[in-house]
Amino acid sequence: MPTPREGSAVLEFHDVWFGYEPGRPVLRGVSFRVPRRGHLALIGPSGAGKSTVFALIERFYDPDRGRILADGADLRRLDRTVHRSGIGLVDQDCPVLHGTLLENLTYAAPEASGAEVERVIELAGLGELVTRLPLGLDTPVGERGAALSGGERQRVAIARTLLARPRLLLLDEPTAHLDAENEAALRRTIDQVAAECALIVIAHRFTTIRTAAQVIVLDQGVVSASGTHHDLVASSGYYRGLAAEWTGRDADSPATVPPTRLNSTEPEP
Ligand code: ATP
Repeated sequence: MPTPREGSAVLEFHDVWFGYEPGRPVLRGVSFRVPRRGHLALIGPSGAGKSTVFALIERFYDPDRGRILADGADLRRLDRTVHRSGIGLVDQDCPVLHGTLLENLTYAAPEASGAEVERVIELAGLGELVTRLPLGLDTPVGERGAALSGGERQRVAIARTLLARPRLLLLDEPTAHLDAENEAALRRTIDQVAAECALIVIAHRFTTIRTAAQVIVLDQGVVSASGTHHDLVASSGYYRGLAAEWTGRDADSPATVPPTRLNSTEPEP
């Protein structure tokens, strides 16, 4: 990513159209703005185009129409490698490699200082895990090592990505069940990371969506609503429907966004 310009957003989509095949647009006129700090949640049913937004941000594809700006500069004009060096991606699949927890954290940044490692452990809420493991950071994890839960694995991946000090972190939140402790840890991590850099989360959990500074609802490639949780409760029939489903559930049963819910709602008022 280029050097920041005062006042510019870290990323902006301006009326972006994109399709994998000619004549079949997957994103249709998508616009949004990502400030330098803060948590933006991207929600919508399966196939709405959320992962495609991430693919365009990383510049695996260019828009067919419209523009994507990073720090005010058109992505098409930026060197791909330089642009990607400012972006961290944590996807749903977070394998733990053979080796110790420390090696898992630092394999992409072996020169990271002890203080840097401490910082990302704190940010990713891994302090308790380190204390619990028999050899702390030197405990073997992964195959035949100490078993980490899905939530811990994802926070290890977040910590590893943060070591590179990305300006923008893209997080594809797990759809799989997390226990209450891991769910709360993920929410705290998201809050802490959002204080450090720009964060876009493909979100599937009410606990993380309701604390986002901005929620964008994508429906069949179109931004059908955006705003805070409170804005959307007031303005979006779709969101109200989701919120009613979520809050109707047992609080101990972490709720995820039903993949087909959007298609079954009435049109927006
Ligand atoms: P999910 O929540 O299931 O991951 P999503 O909202 O992330 O869905 P995308 O993965 O962005 O949606 O897919 C949007 C549309 O683009 C879908 O119709 C999908 O089939 C199509 N699509 C995604 N990737 C490709 C590809 N590489 N080639 C062709 N079509 C694709």
